[in-house]
Amino acid sequence: MNAQVELKAVEKWFGEAQVIKGVDLAVAPGEFVVFVGPSGCGKSTLLRMIAGLEETSRGQILVEGRDATAEPPSKRGLAMVFQSYALYPHLTVRENVGFPLKAAGMPKDEIARRVDEAARALRLDAYLDRRPRDLSGGQRQRVAIGRSIVRQPTAFLFDEPLSNLDAALRVEMRYEIAKLHQQLGTAMIYVTHDQIEAMTLADRIVVLEFGKIAQVGTPRELYTAPANLFVAQFIGSPK
Ligand code: ADP
Ligand code: MG
Repeated sequence: MNAQVELKAVEKWFGEAQVIKGVDLAVAPGEFVVFVGPSGCGKSTLLRMIAGLEETSRGQILVEGRDATAEPPSKRGLAMVFQSYALYPHLTVRENVGFPLKAAGMPKDEIARRVDEAARALRLDAYLDRRPRDLSGGQRQRVAIGRSIVRQPTAFLFDEPLSNLDAALRVEMRYEIAKLHQQLGTAMIYVTHDQIEAMTLADRIVVLEFGKIAQVGTPRELYTAPANLFVAQFIGSPK
């Protein structure tokens, strides 16, 4: 079976600076892969390259076996989940969630059907006519996710979606995202610098160190057999 998303010898240069230094990785259909690593190690850049928001300097990005390296974001069938502050304040939840479909010219009844489905999956049914300011932080984040779900992507890309939330809400949303993954069965690629998020959500964790993969493995593998001190310190294994 084809990988859902595959990176082959991917590099990124900003001028003279190389920030991604040859990354190889295959994400299986339905797999939950978490990129972790300290600030500045290249997590966002790599995710943006997968999304097509950042050009790939060298190497290839395949989506379901298809070479997507030069495809624009809209052709890739992937959804990037932005933080909840990207919601339109003047639109209702229903309009916010349906926005990408309306922008794509989809018929109204199909939009309504998909918005209802997303609202059910995210338990937003009761809030469809509210505006973002009348929602809690967790509800807003669910609306931001709903806006991705309606496009029925083949994989979701998350860049630190919970970093602006307080501790209690982070725990709640972590649980929501795990449940959503279970329900949809869609591959997820999730960036965080939070070890606990990585350990609880991931099927596999990719530890990035200065634009290179330091180690890939299940949370248990990384915890019990870290490849080096960097991974051990980052994952918090006993030494
Ligand atoms: P992370 O998300 O892991 O914190 P980033 O992917 O944002 O890391 O950044 C990786 C490196 O690339 C950093 O050194 C950052 O300064 C650099 N970088 C990111 N975007 C740009 C850009 N548009 N131009 C130049 N350098 C960039
Ligand atoms: Mg980042």
